[in-house]
Amino acid sequence: MTTYSDLLAAVAATGEGRDIHDPATGDLVAAAPVHTVDDLEKAVAAARAAQPSWAAQGHAARREVLNRAADAVDASAEALAELLSREQGKPLNGPNARFEVGGAAAWLRAAAAFDLEPEVLVDDDGGRAELHFRPLGVVGAIGPWNWPMMISVWQLAPALRMGNTVVMKPSEYTPLSVLALAAVLNQVLPADVLHVVSGGRDVGETLSAHPDVDKIMFTGSTATGKAIIRSSADTVKRLTLELGGNDAGIVLPDADPQAIAEDLFWGAFINTGQTCAAMKRLYVHTDIYDDVVSALADVAARMPMGVGLDESNVLGPLQNKAQYNIVANLVEAARDAGARIVVGGNPEAEQPGYFYPTTLVADIDNDNPLVAQEQFGPALPIIRYSTVDEAVAMANGLDVGLGASVWSSDKDAAREVAARIQAGTVWINKHGAVDPRVPFGGAKQSGYGLEFGVEGLKHLGAPQVISY
Ligand code: NAD
Repeated sequence: MTTYSDLLAAVAATGEGRDIHDPATGDLVAAAPVHTVDDLEKAVAAARAAQPSWAAQGHAARREVLNRAADAVDASAEALAELLSREQGKPLNGPNARFEVGGAAAWLRAAAAFDLEPEVLVDDDGGRAELHFRPLGVVGAIGPWNWPMMISVWQLAPALRMGNTVVMKPSEYTPLSVLALAAVLNQVLPADVLHVVSGGRDVGETLSAHPDVDKIMFTGSTATGKAIIRSSADTVKRLTLELGGNDAGIVLPDADPQAIAEDLFWGAFINTGQTCAAMKRLYVHTDIYDDVVSALADVAARMPMGVGLDESNVLGPLQNKAQYNIVANLVEAARDAGARIVVGGNPEAEQPGYFYPTTLVADIDNDNPLVAQEQFGPALPIIRYSTVDEAVAMANGLDVGLGASVWSSDKDAAREVAARIQAGTVWINKHGAVDPRVPFGGAKQSGYGLEFGVEGLKHLGAPQVISY
């Protein structure tokens, strides 16, 4: 399945389907199958039946299968990247489609690599206690449309490694990418260990309430996360919730604007701003405010945006019209409130795709909706501050806390500020750089539970103490 047409043939609807269009051109990509709650029931039953023998294979065998799954992704990487680019809109190059497919393979290998030995908690004359992590059973995975392949792997790889079987419910906007990824993985996985049910919200709701599903891994908006908490309550399901963010970046007065500008830019504009842990509001000390704004504007001017399959582009369209409208309305509200649009802000009226230009908004109040709400697109508000206390208070002023960053030439000073920020991860002189070895999760209403690393594996296991 190494060519694009093979991949498409493997995943496109054979009967009635839902047309999926390229958000950059409006062209038809393919019709996605529309699965129903009935299909979900069959998938859960098959996954449940397959789980005991998958668990019985043990860690060594599952590690080997995950490594072979990563090889299969590598072997189909170009075809996967093309489909991802057409369906999601992200360019092939830059930190986009090829990068995402590479990340999917890397995270599969990482999930295979970690050792997870039982922990000896007590071992003395009084006795011994060990902590083991057993398989949970069937894991439901519900995902968003921004990084559909990478996030699917973040959910399925640790789940499989721990001896669970998986039923995935991709976003309605990007089902083909997840179906294609699963088709590639299923070349090496045993039958029924991984299912994808490409349905709507009703399928997600049924999955999260299902009595035969033991855990939900959910990545998406905070509002949907709360709905899942409610619908999973009756079965006391385990949950890992990676929800929305509105990450703050704080530039301290000693930072060098030229030196940090490009990293600041990608911290905010990776995947054209459609990234959970992208920098979504930037606080800059008044002493260097103008220099940082102009250095960022210079970087923005040389980053081409356009159709994903054009090799020269590194920024793409918004994935869907609803998200385009959110970004456009927030920028208009900022303009109406008197903020200064430094670059961007004027999308073309007639265009086939959902392109919103790279936009920097300066001289904006902290309570402006473009700051206070998650824009999830290529429009960065830049807020001026005078004291570090003020910046920290503004960074902590929202009810979400996924990531944050502090930018400074003095790492110790930056670490002191980082310790005061309410966020699951605080990066120093970078933003959004996730690593398969390093646990990742949200504070406050950005969710709970951890992904990645050994901690991530533990979250896909049922802890069991053996005491004697
Ligand atoms: P969304 O919440 O609208 O949808 C996510 C998924 O949930 C979709 O598959 C959808 O069909 C399903 N769903 C919707 N209602 C449901 C319900 N009641 N029960 C079960 N499933 C339901 O999110 P989105 O718009 O696809 O993604 C964007 C959001 O995701 C942003 O807020 C972003 O910050 C967040 N996000 C977070 C992370 C993270 O790691 N924290 C990563 C990526 C995206």
